[in-house]
Amino acid sequence: CGIVGYIGYNDTKDILLNGLEKLEYRGYDSAGIAMLDNDDINLFKVKGRIAALRQRVDDTTAATMGIGHTRWATHGGPSAENAHPHQSTSGRFALVHNGVIENYQELKSDYLGGVDFGSETDTEIIVQLVEKNAEKYQDTAEAFRRTINLLKGSYAVALIDKEDRNTIYVAKNKSPLLVGLGDGFNVVTSDAMATLNETNQYLELNDQEIVIVKRNVVNVQTLDGTFVSRKPFTAEIDV
Ligand code: GLU
Repeated sequence: CGIVGYIGYNDTKDILLNGLEKLEYRGYDSAGIAMLDNDDINLFKVKGRIAALRQRVDDTTAATMGIGHTRWATHGGPSAENAHPHQSTSGRFALVHNGVIENYQELKSDYLGGVDFGSETDTEIIVQLVEKNAEKYQDTAEAFRRTINLLKGSYAVALIDKEDRNTIYVAKNKSPLLVGLGDGFNVVTSDAMATLNETNQYLELNDQEIVIVKRNVVNVQTLDGTFVSRKPFTAEIDV
């Protein structure tokens, strides 16, 4: 339903929680955030309100990058287990997703036999596939690109890798997703309203594009890896 991500030098948890609160009006049944700190992914998920998620988040967790999600369940009931972010079995990757993966059952039986799933969502196959591909190709950008190429359906996704504090991987098809540009930081969001406090400069993404987001660089490419140049637009506050 809603996505917010941040990579910079400031305290990520407030930026994510404030952003998710701005998306509350759209409706959702559960919410969660994952933040990368000292080479560990700190994951917090709840069924229900962002206020409940805020209470759950450990005040001492200081991270400068992370991703958050409000979920409107399509596959698997509303619960903390089915809430996003979803993690791969080893815990290395965490991912949020809006939309529906139409071929998730096929991908599960073709590539993920023997994997122990922690949720009933269509989404979890994406993060499990990234882990499989990362073992095979030893490169997260390549693993992400190969995974996204296998998906059929609608998706806005954001992925973080425990082994790399400097990158958020993003992809979009038929679900809204923007990359917001800042000075020494960048954000990703399904709705500019969620991150207007951080920036009003946004890159619109086309369907079937991938973006590698770092603190000072944003790199847009097509699914075959061709780089794309994109000019930002100024988001106006809509009242
Ligand atoms: N299909 C995914 C799920 O059920 C994502 C739903 C959403 O867009 O919030 O978890």
